[in-house]
Amino acid sequence: MAERPRKILICSCEDTMPLDGAAVRRVCRGSEVIEGRQFCRAELERFRKAAAGGEPVTVACTQEAPVFSEAAGETEGAGELTFVNIREAAGWSKDAQAAGPKMAALLAAAAEPPPEISYVSLSSEGVTLLYGSDERVIEAAQLLKDHLDLTVLIKQPGEVSPLRVTEYPLVKGAIRSATGHLGAFEVTIDDYAQPAPSSRDGLKFGPARNDVVTRCDLLIDISGGAALFPSADRRDGYLRADPGDPAAVLRAVLKARDLTGSFEKPRYVTYSEDLCAHARSGIVGCRRCLDLCPTGAIAPNGDHVAIDAAVCAGCGQCAAACPTGAASYALPQSDALLRKLRTLLSAYREAGGKQPVVLFHDGEHGAELIEALARYGDGLPANVLPVQLNEITQVGLEAVAGAFAYGASAVRMLIHTKPRHDVVGLRQTIALAEPILAGLGFAGSRVATIETDDPDNLGATLRAIAAMDGAAKPATFTAVGRKREVVRLAVRHARREGGRLHALSCLRAGLPDRRFVGRSGKADAALCGRRLRAMRAVSGNLPREGHQPKAADRFPQRHRRQACDQAGRALRLHPLRQAVRRQELGRARDC
Ligand code: SF4
Ligand code: SF4
Repeated sequence: MAERPRKILICSCEDTMPLDGAAVRRVCRGSEVIEGRQFCRAELERFRKAAAGGEPVTVACTQEAPVFSEAAGETEGAGELTFVNIREAAGWSKDAQAAGPKMAALLAAAAEPPPEISYVSLSSEGVTLLYGSDERVIEAAQLLKDHLDLTVLIKQPGEVSPLRVTEYPLVKGAIRSATGHLGAFEVTIDDYAQPAPSSRDGLKFGPARNDVVTRCDLLIDISGGAALFPSADRRDGYLRADPGDPAAVLRAVLKARDLTGSFEKPRYVTYSEDLCAHARSGIVGCRRCLDLCPTGAIAPNGDHVAIDAAVCAGCGQCAAACPTGAASYALPQSDALLRKLRTLLSAYREAGGKQPVVLFHDGEHGAELIEALARYGDGLPANVLPVQLNEITQVGLEAVAGAFAYGASAVRMLIHTKPRHDVVGLRQTIALAEPILAGLGFAGSRVATIETDDPDNLGATLRAIAAMDGAAKPATFTAVGRKREVVRLAVRHARREGGRLHALSCLRAGLPDRRFVGRSGKADAALCGRRLRAMRAVSGNLPREGHQPKAADRFPQRHRRQACDQAGRALRLHPLRQAVRRQELGRARDC
């Protein structure tokens, strides 16, 4: 296994868990493995000495990462630092004695380079619209007026006293719609009116008008009405709080006060227009990403789609569902995730581990649950390898197929009982993976979600997974390229390893297994000019390598299964679709 030379510091955390230094040395070849029992306090000098060498240093502790970072900062010539959790993930478990291979695998996987992240900039000058319906909005305004450029919008004003001194504009109106994000909201208001300055014992308003459009950097909503955006808590710059919950209102106010200046957020998804199969000639072929995006960040844009990186919340469902790889997740890219899985699973196996279960989880809910299980419960089973992702919904077919090709015996995805956004894309991925795995000979419950907020339930569910074998000879291929190529590599490998791949690649995946357009006798000759033009349109619509005319504009056009993106779209576009055999139409229907 290729390995950057580095130093690995493994710590027994005051002898609260056993270490298997030999297993770590075996799989992290070329690395210097240093064992200790309290690197963060009594043995901090040993850490400094290791860091001073200039090599990259991996510390098997995440809890005390700030202490190590500070110590490295004070050490001249200190190399790059990474941290790996082997305590809650492995050592603090009733299976601790058997957790050596897992610890070694987690440390080996940490050597994989982190993803390169590009960012999108958002900037806010603090122009704020505070939206409410009663005196509570005035209370919030008092906390904000000295920090932000504030306008208060009151919906159906009830008992609101006139301002003693007009320190900020106060108007009435109801927000009909809002678009945008931090630094660039556009709000359309109905029933908009200015108050009369002579309002005496209650606010009196002038004539109202509709369709008033205003722009702001921040939108604070304590109106108690429906959210103005889908997945509202994922919209940067939109702060919504229940007016009946003073603590929530205060949190929103304090957060708003910090939202002035320039901010960066990751560009979660990269998009290649030339791979997108959205539409051609005005006929829509694919809209999977549009249907799944919980934030409304994706919109049709002619024959393609446009992804607004400033609105995108990074759930990854578009990338997981995209059949062509036009939308691909960047945190990390799917091939980088596959390389990490390969290292993790091969190191686990090399260190003597058996029947690995890959547990995908996120860094909030999932990591907290695993920590709680380790601290207060039985910990993770020794064969469960946790893999932290930015979002659990970023898991696509390529990650599942890759995990099995590299030797996983089962894959589980840990999700909240009330996820922050719909997880329908993840369920579709599982529904797609199940028949493929079954067809490859992986019997039993191989891939599933675990939906729980209870650490004990998580532990019990993981321990109840039946012992199953993975691939007899795990793959070693390096995942490079687009998602479809990675999936194809993984499935091809699993098939070679004794799988029985029938026609399953064309079932749910919608990939027809042979030529899908039947010869229609004299149809070639009967092509009129209109049909010929339509035929050309079809050719132009299909993936370049997937649909190749035998001769220009002639039937039958050959269809290469492996290169197919969208047979369903081809059928919709085909001018002679009556000639498509019913059986073949059935095959491609789900595409
Ligand atoms: S990652 Fe999620 S939020 Fe972002 S564009 Fe894709 S589906 Fe939408
Ligand atoms: S899912 Fe992929 S191919 Fe389909 S419209 Fe979206 S980006 Fe294009």
